[in-house]
Amino acid sequence: MVLLDGKKLSEEIQAELAQKVSHLKSEGKKIPHLAAVLVGNDGASETYVASKVKACERIGFGSTLIRKESSVTHAELMTVVQQLNSDENITGILVQLPLPKHIDEEKVTYAISPSKDVDGFHPVNVGRMVKGLPCHLPATPYGILMLLEKYQVQTEGKHCVVIGRSDIVGKPMSILMSRNAYPGNCTVTTCHSKTKNLKEICLSADIIVAALGRPEFVTGDMVKEGSVVIDVGITRVPDATKKSGFKLKGDVHFESVAPKCSFITPVPGGVGPMTIAALLMNTMNASALDY
Ligand code: NAD
Repeated sequence: MVLLDGKKLSEEIQAELAQKVSHLKSEGKKIPHLAAVLVGNDGASETYVASKVKACERIGFGSTLIRKESSVTHAELMTVVQQLNSDENITGILVQLPLPKHIDEEKVTYAISPSKDVDGFHPVNVGRMVKGLPCHLPATPYGILMLLEKYQVQTEGKHCVVIGRSDIVGKPMSILMSRNAYPGNCTVTTCHSKTKNLKEICLSADIIVAALGRPEFVTGDMVKEGSVVIDVGITRVPDATKKSGFKLKGDVHFESVAPKCSFITPVPGGVGPMTIAALLMNTMNASALDY
C-alpha cells in the first residue's frame, strides 16, 4: 500500500511556485495576488482562509484578506466583489463559503469575474471544464488530479466510483475522471444519498473518491483488494484530548480500508493540502486566462 502524500506534494508545488514568483519579480513582472473575502466568525472558515492567505505569503504572492461582519448586506458584498474584479492588481478572488443565510451565495460567487475565479465555481469555468477548454478547475478535484499524476496512478479503463455529487467536489470529480485525458478515461459511477446498493457498487470500483462528509463511512468490507481510495472528507469530531477540542476525520475508515489498497490518501495530509496547492496554481495561472 502506498500513501498518497498530499502534504509532501503540496510543499513541492509551493516551492516551485515560489521560484516562479522570484523569477517574475526579478523580471519586474506582475506578481499573482489573491484576495480572500471572509464573512462572519465561523471557526472552520477562519482556519481555511488563514491557511490560504499564509500559503500565498509563504510563496511570495500578494494577498489581501477582506473581513466582513455576518451582518453585511448582499449589496455591500456585491460591491466588494465588483471592486476586486476591477482592481488590476488582484489576479485571484475567493469568497469563503458558506455565507450567512440572508446572502444569495450563488449571486455573489457568480459575480466574480470568471478569469479571477480561482475556486473554479463560476458557471463559465464549469462549462469550460466540461468542454475541456483552458479554465480554473475547482481546487479540490484539481488537487486530486495532481496527486494521481504524481504517483502515476493508472486510471485509463478503470471503474471510478465517486461518492457525493456536490458542485465543488463530487460532480466535477466525476466529470474529470471520465474525460479523455490523463488522469481520466475512467468509467465513472456517481453515487449520492439516494443511491441503492452502494456497497456493491464500491466493491466493483478500482478507484473510490469519497466526498460525502460522513466520518469513516467507507469501511474495509466495501473495498476490493488493490483499490485506489481518495478520501476527501474532513469532519471535525469532538476530542477532549486535543487542545482544539476536536480532531479531523475523513470519510474513510483508514484502519480497515488501507490494508486492501494499492494507494490511499491519509486524513489529514492527503487531499486537504492539495486543495491549497491547486488554488495557488490557479492563482498563478489566472493572468494567462483572458475570458
Ligand atoms: P456536500 O454536503 O455538499 O455533499 C455531500 C454529498 O454526499 C451529497 O451529494 C450527498 O448526496 C452525498 N451523500 C450524503 N450522504 C450519503 C450517503 N449516505 N451515501 C451516498 N452519498 C451520500 O459536501 P462537499 O462540500 O462535497 O464535501 C464533502 C466532504 O469533503 C466534507 O467532509 C467536506 O468537509 C470535505 N471537503 C474537503 C475538502 C478538502 O480540501 N479536503 C474540500 C471540500 C470539501
